Amino acid sequence: MDAKQIEKIFLDNSYVRWGGSQEELQCAAYLQQYLQKIGISSQLEAFATDHAVIKKAKLIVLDPKIKEIPCTGYFMCANTAQDGIEKELFYLRRNDRYTLEQVKDKIVIVDGYIGKWTYNDLVEHGAAGFITCGYDAHDENHDIEQRELRSYVSDGKLLCGVNINIKDGIDIIKNKTKKVRLEVQQEYGKSDSHNLIATIKGKKTEEIIFTAHYDTVDNSFGIYDNLSGAVGLLALAERFKESQPNYTLRFIWCGSEERGLLGSKAYCLAHTKELEKAVLVINLDMIGSIMGYMLACCTSEDKLAHYLEYFALEYGSELKAYQDVYSSDSTPFADNGIPAVSFCRWASHASAKIHCRYDTIEEVSCQQMVDDIEFIYAFAKRMANAKVIPVKKVIPDNIKTSLDEYLLRKRKD
Ligand SMILES: [Zn+2]
Repeated sequence: MDAKQIEKIFLDNSYVRWGGSQEELQCAAYLQQYLQKIGISSQLEAFATDHAVIKKAKLIVLDPKIKEIPCTGYFMCANTAQDGIEKELFYLRRNDRYTLEQVKDKIVIVDGYIGKWTYNDLVEHGAAGFITCGYDAHDENHDIEQRELRSYVSDGKLLCGVNINIKDGIDIIKNKTKKVRLEVQQEYGKSDSHNLIATIKGKKTEEIIFTAHYDTVDNSFGIYDNLSGAVGLLALAERFKESQPNYTLRFIWCGSEERGLLGSKAYCLAHTKELEKAVLVINLDMIGSIMGYMLACCTSEDKLAHYLEYFALEYGSELKAYQDVYSSDSTPFADNGIPAVSFCRWASHASAKIHCRYDTIEEVSCQQMVDDIEFIYAFAKRMANAKVIPVKKVIPDNIKTSLDEYLLRKRKD
């Protein structure tokens, strides 16, 4: 795959691909068609996701001065009564567990977003609702992100909530806002998201799994995050098709990663038995940025990170490898005991623009894409044709702890 072809795929798929939407499925069909054209058969695997249609989301400051604040309602949060709820406002400072007794029956505003544990705290202490603030003070009102109260965060204990521009958040605090009205109405439902799966049979039945997500958040074209990785996976499949590898290779284009790794979690759940054959996961999430450097996050023995750094030097490329959990589709696999490595060309110019309307083709270089794919292919080929995969199928204890924290089984803050 050359730079021109990569550019075409980027341009053809420059639209919002929210998990579970028609547009996400349209992109999956496009990827599938590409695979078909190069002679690789693939299957779409559906999995159900929560689906909401927001009918109304309103935040009105009542005291000291009546003012409507632009907001988006949280998908899957509680509905208020038709005419809303009027409550005192409370500002909960980040990591402040000492003032939690004061949130009872109040609408709570926080700096930034809310994680599971703070959400649990709010529920336990009887908060009436919540307001979160986007991070970027340069955002326009139409940039206010459509957030979701994920089911594994709420555990079915629903509060109503909205997200606002941080500029308004600052004003709310500065003006010593005492009372607000919240109105949120939505219809709940389900819709299917999809994983696209293709297999290249090797001499062994043991598998190396390649993953990359192709969905986006609700307000982004997601070229760097992560059409770049999805295209990388297409190119890898195309290269590996040329001659039979030693290990069997499975390629998974994951849906709904941005909604909490839903596609990779669904795959692991539906294929538990087959995962016994998996020996390594190679995940691509954000490659091909114009500047920056290659990162390799190893959710595995630390040895893989050292190997990768040596390998990169030998190859003639720079790379920073480290051992950790990566916030991407590699994680559910690692949680199933399979060592994983996630590749990312990390660039401040591009990573500052993910999850918003600025994640466009302007942030990536199609030639850098070619070079990144070539490097990842060189590493993957060594693994695919290894006599024995050198990475042990163990997840070290420190990584198990990080997985417990990342997957919200254990409180971190
Ligand atoms: Zn991503």
